[in-house]
Amino acid sequence: MNFPVCNRKGKTPRRPPKKPSNNQKDPVGVYCRVRPLGAEDEECCIEVISNTTIQLHAPDGLKANRNGEFKETQYSFKKVFGIKTTQRELFADVAKPLVEDLIHCKNGLLFTYGVTGSGKTYTMTGSPGQGGLLPRSLDMIFNSIGPYQAKRYVFKPDDKNGMEVQNQVDALLDRQKRDSQTSVPKTPTTRRIDPEFADMISPEEACKAGEVDEDSSYSVFVSYIEIYNNYIYDLLEETPFDPIKPKPPQSKILREDQNHNMYVAGCTEVEVKSTEEAFEVFWRGQKKRRIANTQLNRESSRSHSVFIIKLAQAPLDADGDNVLQDKSQVNVSQLCLVDLAGSERTSRTRAEGNRLREAGNINQSLMTLRTCIEVLRENQMCGTNKMVPYRDSKVTHLFKNYFDGEGKVRMVVCVNPKADDYEETLLVMRFAEMTQEVEVARPVDRPICGFAAGRRQRNQAFKDELTHRLEERGGPVDGESPTVLNQLLQSFHPLPPCEISGPNDDVTLPRLIDALEKRHKIRKLMVEEYNKTGKITLLRAQDSNLLSKENFIQEQRGRLGEKDKMIQNQKNEIDRLEKKSKMLEYKIDILQKTTNIYEEDKRSLQHELESREQRLQREMSEKRRMETRMQGIVTDAKLKWEKECERRVNAKQLEMQNKLWVKDEKLKQLKAIVTEGKTENRQPQRPSREKDKVPGEVFKTRGGGQAVQFTDIETLKQENPVAASRKRRSSETGPDGEPMERNWTNVETRCSVAVEMRAGSNLGPGYQHHGYPKRRKP
Ligand code: ADP
Ligand code: MG
Repeated sequence: MNFPVCNRKGKTPRRPPKKPSNNQKDPVGVYCRVRPLGAEDEECCIEVISNTTIQLHAPDGLKANRNGEFKETQYSFKKVFGIKTTQRELFADVAKPLVEDLIHCKNGLLFTYGVTGSGKTYTMTGSPGQGGLLPRSLDMIFNSIGPYQAKRYVFKPDDKNGMEVQNQVDALLDRQKRDSQTSVPKTPTTRRIDPEFADMISPEEACKAGEVDEDSSYSVFVSYIEIYNNYIYDLLEETPFDPIKPKPPQSKILREDQNHNMYVAGCTEVEVKSTEEAFEVFWRGQKKRRIANTQLNRESSRSHSVFIIKLAQAPLDADGDNVLQDKSQVNVSQLCLVDLAGSERTSRTRAEGNRLREAGNINQSLMTLRTCIEVLRENQMCGTNKMVPYRDSKVTHLFKNYFDGEGKVRMVVCVNPKADDYEETLLVMRFAEMTQEVEVARPVDRPICGFAAGRRQRNQAFKDELTHRLEERGGPVDGESPTVLNQLLQSFHPLPPCEISGPNDDVTLPRLIDALEKRHKIRKLMVEEYNKTGKITLLRAQDSNLLSKENFIQEQRGRLGEKDKMIQNQKNEIDRLEKKSKMLEYKIDILQKTTNIYEEDKRSLQHELESREQRLQREMSEKRRMETRMQGIVTDAKLKWEKECERRVNAKQLEMQNKLWVKDEKLKQLKAIVTEGKTENRQPQRPSREKDKVPGEVFKTRGGGQAVQFTDIETLKQENPVAASRKRRSSETGPDGEPMERNWTNVETRCSVAVEMRAGSNLGPGYQHHGYPKRRKP
């Protein structure tokens, strides 16, 4: 921990605070207690989700107002106590360890924090039948140290936060003085218990600390203060009450003792000898507080109350009979139980005027507490050395040593789950979260004094024995092992009558002297015997002590072995996990490499794909071009061939027509010959056409061939000889008459065209001669 150094200007530098001799630290233990809802139908904003975590839900109204800005938040604590937690369970977890520490000379601070109505006072003080942490702590203390308490006034507080040891006589005188003062209440066993707190702890719930040092003597002192508006008031101060003009209470100041611990100067410390007595003192303070608050119109929820339990302990002397008269051997430890003021902001309480200002101060002190915690945390976490503003408020100043000295600090955060408190509860949670991160130096064990252990027991045994024997004086002794002591006790005769009968009485005095001498001798023998037995018991006790220590060491060794085993197991586990982690790393590496390779492949394949696509594109366009070209060629060729075919067909037709015509002529001639035989007079009439005449002009071509130019179109009509003869028979018309013409068949239409035929041209020899005869008019 870093110790803040206060460098206040204009002041002599203070000595650095006493550093704790150990460097072990524990975080502030923060617990959370959720109280039940006031009414069952009230909206709840807290849910306990595990024994270390709670969850806050924004209430419906708030969610709607802030557009869902508030979400569910979780907060973790050392432990969470739900609504069913009993006061006893809470005590066992939270305060019991602090009481154990107190009895073992270690300081503790326990405070409750939360908004008003969250259950701080219920947790700290409790109610009848439901005693809180305070009465239970007191009870545990007295259950533990009860038989080892010093007589009243053996320990006496000096006025500087220290403790003195008085000798028996002074203590006795003080006791007598106290008894003579009627105002001071006597021991509680004889008194009636106030019904207001009668039932704070039931006897069956009694708790006890383990390992209480029996060879020490103890005394408990309590003080009770209230801090209101940054003023400290002593609630146990006995002031004569003037009903006519009541005096306002006087505030106290804080001082630092020689060990740099803070204390309230002049504060009443009441020595108490039992739980009831202690609690009665507390209740007295409580009543005073209530009265003051009413008289001065204060709001009790705005004050901090601090109940301090101081335990003084000192070793018994070598005889084990009295407290060692050595102030340096007195150890004082203290447990502070603090019920803080409500943490809510001033606006919530609707205070006005003075009250508002005062409330502001109360808030200020809680704010200072928060700031101190914040700075402490920052110093610890970041290694900074910022000054912690303990002095800014009385509360933080008083507890300064717990944070920069040593001790155990615990806080119970009280929360009311009702929705109305949601926003304030959020702030409380944040503070709690921060507080958990602060660490406090662990208190060290006090050195034990050099006397042999078991002194009290030995002394007690001797005393018991002596009383017993003295009671049985003159009676029968234990026959089996008659000791010198027993024999001597037996020979203890009553004193002879010592009344001198007259001036001449020579018997009484010598007889008395004789008896007294005998007694003196017996006493001497007894002292010797006592010393002997004392030594033997001492040896025995030391033996048993040694044995128990050995057992303890053995036990610890066993535990150490277990721990070693555990550590070994953990190490193995760590090794295994490390190996696994390495293996996984290796695998990841391989996978990374494989991925890289695949990616490389992918890239190259993509590249290839792209180039192929480009090629394909090119080829496609080439193909299209070719297609269009081919189409052109094909159409050309088709056209050419079509023309050619036409030409050839035409030529063939012409040829065929010519042949037909020739045959026709021949037939006509044949017919003429036949008819000539029948009618000698009749001359055959040739058509008015010369035999070899081509019906057009024939001319030479440039290629050396011949071409015919037809000049007209004629229709060749062929007469069907059969039909002709039939017709001629049926009609009497002449051969040139109109009806005759109907026997002619329209053979061919010839058209006159001019075609240039070139001999040897690429159209072949068959195309040299073309022409269509002019259609002959019927
Ligand atoms: P605070 O001191 O924080 O203002 P109180 O301790 O006075 O709050 O509690 C307010 C009321 O709630 C009291 O009546 C108290 O009995 C009740 N209460 C608080 N905590 C609990 C609890 N855990 N169980 C039952 N009642 C509780
Ligand atoms: Mg309260």
